[in-house]
Amino acid sequence: MTEWLSRSERRPLVAGNWKMNGLRKDLAEADKICAATAAGEAGEAEVVLCLPATLLMAAVASCEAAGVGLGGQHCHGAPNGPFTGDVSAEMLKDAGASYVILGHSERRAGHNEGNASVREKTRAAFRAGLTAIVCVGETRAEREAGDAMAIVGSQLTGSVPGEATPETLVIAYEPVWAIGTGLTPTLKDIAEMHRFIRERLEADLSGVRDRIRILYGGSVKPSNAAELMRVPNVDGALVGGASLTARDFMGIASVYRDLRVAS
Ligand code: PEP
Repeated sequence: MTEWLSRSERRPLVAGNWKMNGLRKDLAEADKICAATAAGEAGEAEVVLCLPATLLMAAVASCEAAGVGLGGQHCHGAPNGPFTGDVSAEMLKDAGASYVILGHSERRAGHNEGNASVREKTRAAFRAGLTAIVCVGETRAEREAGDAMAIVGSQLTGSVPGEATPETLVIAYEPVWAIGTGLTPTLKDIAEMHRFIRERLEADLSGVRDRIRILYGGSVKPSNAAELMRVPNVDGALVGGASLTARDFMGIASVYRDLRVAS
């Protein structure tokens, strides 16, 4: 099956977020993901694993050899200093990461991270030479109140620094109520939100709108990946639970194996 996607200049990205899961023994799954990616199972898509910081250095060799990117899941805004327990963007870079997830809803809610803090950390990622995957998304109550776009719009404007470029920024739209629940928005709702995000990026970061990748995240699995990844302006996926096994993660990434990206 070969299809054309209605996008240009945006290489699809499938990123796994292992969250606080994974010991060294679990790198066997990462190795399988690397082998499958090197064998072309993700097609033209870029594959990135955002592992716990403790596993980054151990995963560098196989990821580099396979062309799989590594990412962290959070960073502090400062490059170093008296911040016990924190990890800086520079440390992630030094450990082999090229990406970092910022503003994930689990950190916004569980660690009280507001938009200004996410923006500061996004700037820290840029300073260290990392690409920031900035997460935005509404809660169930906000969607039901008809506020989803207003919330996502204010998260974008508040969290994304004006100097962001398509090389340094990826947006992940992750409705909070879809994360880890098995629920997903309708394809129409996803299309509307991704279009809204692209328009908002144009307003906030004039001139780069068409090249910034916008991922969908929230209960992506092999059985729904194909329809989700075909939604206009969905440039890939941020995958939580299903990224923990090579079988499920590659079941998602392999959607791109037979898709050609329109030039
Ligand atoms: C996430 O936490 O970023 C995520 C998308 O989780 P899940 O795929 O498990 O819903």
